[in-house]
Amino acid sequence: MTPSSSVDVLVIGAGPAGTVAASIIHQAGFSVRIVEKQQFPRFVIGESLLPRCMEALDEAGFLDAVRAAGFQEKGGAKFEKNGKICDYSFGEAFTAGWTWTWQVPRAEFDKILADTVEAMGVPVSYGVSVTGIDFSSDGSSVTTLDDGSSVSARFIVDGSGYGRVIPRLFGLDKPSSLPPRRAVFVHLRDPRRSMADEPNRITIVVHKPGVWIWVIPFSSGVTSVGFVGDPGFFDGAAAAGSTVGAASGAAGPNAGGTGGAGFNSGEAQMRALIASQPYIAERMEGVEFLWEPRTLQSWSSTTDTFSGNGFVLTGNVTEFLDPVFSSGVTLATVSSQMAAHLVTRALKGESVDWAKEYAEPMMQGVNTFRSYVNTWYEGVLDTIFFADDQDPLIKSQICSVLAGYVWDMSNPYVRNHETALYKLQSLINFRDAARKKSAVE
Ligand code: FAD
Repeated sequence: MTPSSSVDVLVIGAGPAGTVAASIIHQAGFSVRIVEKQQFPRFVIGESLLPRCMEALDEAGFLDAVRAAGFQEKGGAKFEKNGKICDYSFGEAFTAGWTWTWQVPRAEFDKILADTVEAMGVPVSYGVSVTGIDFSSDGSSVTTLDDGSSVSARFIVDGSGYGRVIPRLFGLDKPSSLPPRRAVFVHLRDPRRSMADEPNRITIVVHKPGVWIWVIPFSSGVTSVGFVGDPGFFDGAAAAGSTVGAASGAAGPNAGGTGGAGFNSGEAQMRALIASQPYIAERMEGVEFLWEPRTLQSWSSTTDTFSGNGFVLTGNVTEFLDPVFSSGVTLATVSSQMAAHLVTRALKGESVDWAKEYAEPMMQGVNTFRSYVNTWYEGVLDTIFFADDQDPLIKSQICSVLAGYVWDMSNPYVRNHETALYKLQSLINFRDAARKKSAVE
């Protein structure tokens, strides 16, 4: 079959991973085309960014367009548990770099990135899905699309997110080591947000052991609120709406749960969940929901390899862990930034050690976040976040990770991510026990 068109690089998916990679490769002088399954704007979850992603957005040439949209600026993250607050301000982070970012409704944000890359000269074909790829021994490929056309390319960047195009087509998917979790979430009008000293940062509320809530205020006065926990929590007394499928826009804006376990709608269930959490109950009582609450679950995924002869996987296709530390868009944009440089080198005929130059640094970042996700669900980070008399240096080092600086090896809470948090928890517990003992004596 003769391909209908030919490019240097075919990018699958117009999410942040796809558009960042496309822009950087295009700026290096290569022809690029993006194919995107859906029509934009489309809903996708993942609304809290981290400062580290600003470097990637900057290099992609997206910052001016995003700034012009007037999204809510984000200067940190606040954690709340039983009335106790721990505030992390990115301005106090140990690692030098961006100290702020944005809280964004992704439908608008992703459309801005896609429109910007298109205005730079990268064609974006919407409503077209990849159905098959044939690789030749030299790494070049012919990709078939569901509109009957095909594209030949010297290289493919797979940024298809939850679509996982190349891992699915070539059997590269691997089960995640993380247990399945569920999220139930809604966008609501939030006129009383000032009572919680917002909107300039996100809030993570510890609801019950293993169950937490995100509160992400947007500049429009709308706030995103989501409960996350093991499916048993939602199936139990608190009840669950119906599951609406994959995270990336599988459901339209009005799709949602049908309620269950005593609730006759997803909205009734969400209102009951909100009413059950003192930190948000009064602020969000009776507020308007913009759509019926939605449910997602089992989003963690991973793959055997991050690259192969003629392709590289970026963003969520590589590995997605958990939403708790907002790592998704940052890992998506940084992986694409890194991959784009390597793709341009490969296209120029230079040799690239993909394992060393791409998979290794990416896994360094992913594994650092993995340690924080695991210790979060184990309750270790609760002890650290809500401890009295926190050491300012240690707080700034943990703050750096929360800002996305998971490649700064001068930070012991990055370098020793597997052990440092457990050691700190033990020290805090030891100190608190000693204080209690001396108070009794
Ligand atoms: P996507 O944004 O999913 O984009 C991939 C694109 O590829 C889509 O537009 C899709 O339509 C397209 N596509 C798929 N299949 C095909 C195909 N066959 N052909 C052509 N195109 C295709 N991240 C954060 O940073 N902050 C958060 O607060 C956050 N909260 C989250 C909450 C939950 C409950 C979950 C599950 C995730 C959350 N995330 C968060 C993660 C975030 O959703 C993703 O990490 C992020 O969207 C990844 O970007 P991406 O560009 O890799 O993929």
